Amino acid sequence: EPELSGDFSRLMDWVDAIKTMGVRANAETPLDAQTARNFGAEGIGLCRTEHMFFDKERIIHIREMILAANEADRRAALANLLPYQRRDFIELFKIMDGLPVTVRLLDPPLHEFLPHGAKDVADVAKALGVSDEAIEERAKSLHEINPMLGHRGCRLGITYPEIYEMQAQAIFEACAEIIQGGGKVTPEVMIPLIATKKEFSILKAVIDHAAAQVRAEKGVALDYMVGTMIELPRAALRAGEIAAGDDGAEFFSFGTNDLTQTTFGLSRDDAGRFIQIYREKAVIENDPFVTLDREGVGELVGIGVERGRAARPGMKTGICGEHGGDPASVMFCQSVGLDYVSCSPYRVPIARLAAAQAALAQRDAKEA
Ligand code: PEP
Ligand code: MG
Repeated sequence: EPELSGDFSRLMDWVDAIKTMGVRANAETPLDAQTARNFGAEGIGLCRTEHMFFDKERIIHIREMILAANEADRRAALANLLPYQRRDFIELFKIMDGLPVTVRLLDPPLHEFLPHGAKDVADVAKALGVSDEAIEERAKSLHEINPMLGHRGCRLGITYPEIYEMQAQAIFEACAEIIQGGGKVTPEVMIPLIATKKEFSILKAVIDHAAAQVRAEKGVALDYMVGTMIELPRAALRAGEIAAGDDGAEFFSFGTNDLTQTTFGLSRDDAGRFIQIYREKAVIENDPFVTLDREGVGELVGIGVERGRAARPGMKTGICGEHGGDPASVMFCQSVGLDYVSCSPYRVPIARLAAAQAALAQRDAKEA
């Protein structure tokens, strides 16, 4: 995996002495995690667990899980995925060696995993002991006209809590193994696409229950946090309620990809052509999916931080949307008091530099 050269690495040490925000990386593979560490990441700010399911051996089980007729069959398929997930997390935790790792539970709409051809359908039908037609029928029933605003994120966890149960069990069993081997691990379990406190508290209970079970079974003390993505305007506005109390979020990570999409009402998957036209016609200056829109999306981030910390003083906050690696956006993150930015591994050095510049700019502004 790539590393920084000696001189550059020394320069970056000076940079780190100035910056006050942490810089983490978005990573879910061992290669990305190791690259991130080599580039100076101080933790993983977003491990997108859905990326762990596309492997050939696993995708069949996730398809069985999605297309299962009942909870028992779903659980059977999830039981097959548990060892893979546990191994994934053990590897990541080992590489990160005690640095914080934010693991986000399954987020994308389920159709991303559905069978794509006759052979896929036949494989799943065989595994579940039903006809190809039955599988086609179930797959069709999952169709959504607007899946990015549909059955995804925490809504999956609410409809099928056994998915998050399996993932939480894998996280905590991996922690237990690391701890029993004399290692350190700091997991932060993160729930995606929260809009309401109730969603959060229901799912936090699922995660706490899994932790208690692993703790009792393995006899190890587990230290973990449960927090949420803030990526819907409602979550930013209700941040105080979402952070409050024993059933509240212990940290926030701003998902500014979805927050930009939902604030502008502009699909992140189709935005390119409008943004092109808007820029040509000087309707907008910057692509808001690249440079954080300070006025609108930024105001929501500011509200989220303020209301979250009013309910939970000193609460840890970060950003894990693409903006976390964009220098102008990093400057904004400093101004609203985020604790860290998280970006793709290759952007970590740029984010470290940007964070130092942001700290200097803030210092100069205070002195002036
Ligand atoms: C986001 O929405 O900003 C985010 C980080 O999550 P994802 O890109 O996986 O939706
Ligand atoms: Mg998102």
